[in-house]
Amino acid sequence: MVITCIVKGCDNKEKVYSAVMFHRIPTHHIQRRAWLAALNKNPKTPLMTLKKWRVCSEHFTAKDYTCTGTRLKDEATPTIFKSLTQQMFLFAFQNNNYCHCYFCHNCVNYYTGRVE
Ligand SMILES: [Zn+2]
Repeated sequence: MVITCIVKGCDNKEKVYSAVMFHRIPTHHIQRRAWLAALNKNPKTPLMTLKKWRVCSEHFTAKDYTCTGTRLKDEATPTIFKSLTQQMFLFAFQNNNYCHCYFCHNCVNYYTGRVE
């Protein structure tokens, strides 16, 4: 099975001779929740599904990696997205005023981050 990145708008696939790395969703529940929120994914996604998911290295900054450059720091979460809406969502999320309705893409609060 070809490993692909689950980030919306990213079509990276695992290839031989590629610098792109693929990271698993963290197993620790707090860290896992932070990733799923940043990725705008359902926090109730079953573990079996999560185990198959990979996020590629293009969504992390250099400072998310340990000194070896291949391993993510425990507190690292994906922060770089090509898709503008995903980046806007993350921005709202980081400012702690994102809409709690993760799944409703039509929700007026979705991009503005207003919580009623
Ligand atoms: Zn990716």
